[in-house]
Amino acid sequence: MGSLSEKLKKIGLETSKCYQCGTCSGDCPVAKIDFSFNPRKIVLETSKDAWIDSNLLWKCATCYKCYRCPRDVKPAEVFSVARKILVKEGDRPKVGESFARIIKKYGELSELKLVFDVKGFKSINMTPPTVIWRMFRKGKINIRANKSPSADEVKRIFEIVGGSNGR
Ligand code: SF4
Ligand code: SF4
Repeated sequence: MGSLSEKLKKIGLETSKCYQCGTCSGDCPVAKIDFSFNPRKIVLETSKDAWIDSNLLWKCATCYKCYRCPRDVKPAEVFSVARKILVKEGDRPKVGESFARIIKKYGELSELKLVFDVKGFKSINMTPPTVIWRMFRKGKINIRANKSPSADEVKRIFEIVGGSNGR
C-alpha cells in the first residue's frame, strides 16, 4: 500500500522537493490553453497526498517542456507514473478509457475523436478557434480518425496485455 507520494518516491520521484517556483506551469503548453491544468499545483497536491482529480493528470501531453525544473522533480514523469498507479488502483477516468479504446481501434490517437468522446459538444467551446486552426494547418489534428498501418499489431498488443485499458 502506501500513499501516492510514497510510491512515487520509491522510484526516485520526490514531489516534496518542489519549491513551487512555477517554472513547469510557465513552460507547459497545455496550461497555456487549459487553465484547469496547473502542473505546479498538481505537484503540490501530490506531495501533500491531497485528492487529485485523475482527469487532470491525463491532460498532460507528456511533451517534456517542463524539463527545466530547478529541483529535478520531473513533473512529466510524476504525472505519467501517477496515472499508471491510479489506473492500477481502479481510478480510470473517462479520458484514459477513451484514449486506450481509440488507440486499440485505430492504432494511433485521433485527438479530435478523443476530445469529442470525453466532452461531447461541450468540446466546441474548449479551445480557441485560432488554436484549432493552427493545429489543423500543421497536421496536428485530423477531422477523420485514420487507421494506422500498424493497427492490427497494436490491437494484438492490447489483447496480449489484456483489456481496452491495457490492464
Ligand atoms: S509534460 Fe505535461 S506538464 Fe510537462 S510541459 Fe508537457 S504537458 Fe505540461
Ligand atoms: S518547476 Fe519544479 S520546483 Fe518549480 S513548481 Fe514545477 S515541479 Fe516545482
